[in-house]
Amino acid sequence: MRGIVFDIDDTLYCRQDLLVKAAEKVLGVKIDDWREFIRIYYEKSDVNMAGLESGEVTTRETNGWRYNETFRILGLPYKEEDGCIAADVYLELQSHMVLSEDMKKALDAFVADPDTKLAVLTAGESKHQWHKVDMLGLDRWFDRSNIIVTGDIMIPKPDVRLCRIIEEKLSLKPDELWMIGDNYDKDITGALDAGWHSIWINRRGLPAPERRPDIEVLTDDELTEKLIELAKQ
Ligand SMILES: [Mg+2]
Repeated sequence: MRGIVFDIDDTLYCRQDLLVKAAEKVLGVKIDDWREFIRIYYEKSDVNMAGLESGEVTTRETNGWRYNETFRILGLPYKEEDGCIAADVYLELQSHMVLSEDMKKALDAFVADPDTKLAVLTAGESKHQWHKVDMLGLDRWFDRSNIIVTGDIMIPKPDVRLCRIIEEKLSLKPDELWMIGDNYDKDITGALDAGWHSIWINRRGLPAPERRPDIEVLTDDELTEKLIELAKQ
């Protein structure tokens, strides 16, 4: 028996595309260096995660501020209100988000395997993350009781207690579990600390850290390929 645990954002679906698209729409410009845009935007995310999880600030406020900070640092032309408008456009784009056909195939393959249990571990504000669960139709593959949103339990990633909660829920031992995530510091260090296996989706091609995941991939295609291989094992 084994358990495969997925992060949501930039793991089950590609959020980066939506974030950049929303900014381009609001500012009316083409953002050529999208990697740098995402790097700054995500750096700003870590600053606000605690306030977001505790409900002190809303996702809209946080995202609006992150957008404006990113616009400012990159020297893009913007007005103060553009950040929140971009946050709204991003939400609107999110309401049409879907899993890729390849990701659906990979999840189907895991569900078809009686020796595999699936779970989700996602960080963020409760309402916002559960909305994504519904939008993406994750009920088709994941039991709702095996979906953990950090905003519901006030334990932040990469706290190893999150892994212990999942081990208990799935009745599995650490070395029977796999974490699939895009954020090295949040998803992969947590898994390494817990003694889990991991697949790191290194979308931005960041330099290799000292402690290595079992598998590292750079793109969605590579990810779903590795997942399908794993499902067959
Ligand atoms: Mg993520």
